[in-house]
Amino acid sequence: MSNYSSKETICIQSGYKPKNGEPRNMPIVQSTTFKYEDSDAMGRLFDLEDSGYFYTRLANPTNDNVARKICELEGGFAAMLTSSGQAANFFAVFNICECGGHVVMASPIYGGTFNLVITTMKKMGIECTIVHPDDDEETLNAAFKENTKCVLAETISNPSCVVLDIEKFAKVAHAHGVPLIVDNTFPTPINCNPIKWGADIVTHSTTKYLDGHGLGVGGCIVDSGNFDWNKYADRFPGLTQPDVSYHGITYTEKFGKGAYITKATAQLMRDFGSIQSPQNAFYLNIGIETLHLRMPKHVANAQKVAEFLEANPKVAWVNYPGLKNDKYYELGKKYCPGGTSGVMAFGMKGGREASKAVMGNLELACIVTHVADARTCVLHPASHTHRQMTDEQLLEAGIRPEFIRLSVGIEDADDIIADLAQAIERA
Ligand SMILES: *Cc1c(COP(=O)(O)O)cnc(C)c1O
Repeated sequence: MSNYSSKETICIQSGYKPKNGEPRNMPIVQSTTFKYEDSDAMGRLFDLEDSGYFYTRLANPTNDNVARKICELEGGFAAMLTSSGQAANFFAVFNICECGGHVVMASPIYGGTFNLVITTMKKMGIECTIVHPDDDEETLNAAFKENTKCVLAETISNPSCVVLDIEKFAKVAHAHGVPLIVDNTFPTPINCNPIKWGADIVTHSTTKYLDGHGLGVGGCIVDSGNFDWNKYADRFPGLTQPDVSYHGITYTEKFGKGAYITKATAQLMRDFGSIQSPQNAFYLNIGIETLHLRMPKHVANAQKVAEFLEANPKVAWVNYPGLKNDKYYELGKKYCPGGTSGVMAFGMKGGREASKAVMGNLELACIVTHVADARTCVLHPASHTHRQMTDEQLLEAGIRPEFIRLSVGIEDADDIIADLAQAIERA
């Protein structure tokens, strides 16, 4: 790994490194399979005795180049790309938490992650206890059980913009001998590095800002290499005891700090096959090349937009950690000194109908399911992602009926504000 000290340079230069006479641009290795001269050499790859590529369902050089870049941006030890953010969070948890295990999960959290853990992983025999990011240490401690394997949380929650006190969560997780997994999708590694604050594993939906242009669905898992699996060997037998599906190798023994990502690649990718397509990894890499330019612009625009909304008499409330009056202003400043992201939420005084009318009146901002994109976009959770819920259920999930998720893009801030102003005026 190159270890450039500046994220700007990492965004552009890290990952793919051409050797003499090789293409300057990262090639898309559009091949499912890789050729070997002798049968034993390939056999050793299958046994994880040698490292190398043999089948793209497990790993592909294009993906690995991009994973290395994200790993370096996060200050991690090893990383892998997945087919989606959902796959990243699933693998991140399932790699260490199987049937009979228990997860402590902070919510508000992305609805897809909530469903994955609460509904689908429950069917796999995995229990979950929900805590709130604001809970004090005593309340958090009470959520742990004998069979707890990890803590899962989001740096900035989608869509409610709650900022996680990463140090508090890391301290509690470590006191119970389990790793903290943080979904860092919204701040991106430009605005926050959870590992620096004690997180052990970081996940991303690369679909969002990392790609930045809405081109490809993808995910990433970064392991800090800091969690000492052997210290709690009985809790994590998948890593610390022989894997029968690889002739009895023990991941921690053979791969040390690389144990977690090697197991996720060799075992979960092999068996579930949720690899990112190399073509999408190529687009993702181009996106990351401008991430360091886009994020400050998203933040600067969002700050202006949030201040405009806060001052508008028809707007009831705004959730944006960059606002001085926001409940998460101080935590936002601590963990994301360069700003949290371009995403905020607001509601109209006229309630659900007024919020829907504003959205319908918008011209520059588009109504899409997507978020964290170069283009400004909006979503009304009560009518879209959370449509099946009653108003009472929405409130329980922390989403008011008038809640609009606004993802501020990198157009001119005045144009975004003018669009919102006319939409609110006409509503
Ligand atoms: C979108 C999102 C996900 C899911 O990612 P996909 O790429 O859509 O599968 C997970 N976490 C957060 C915070 C997200 O915003």
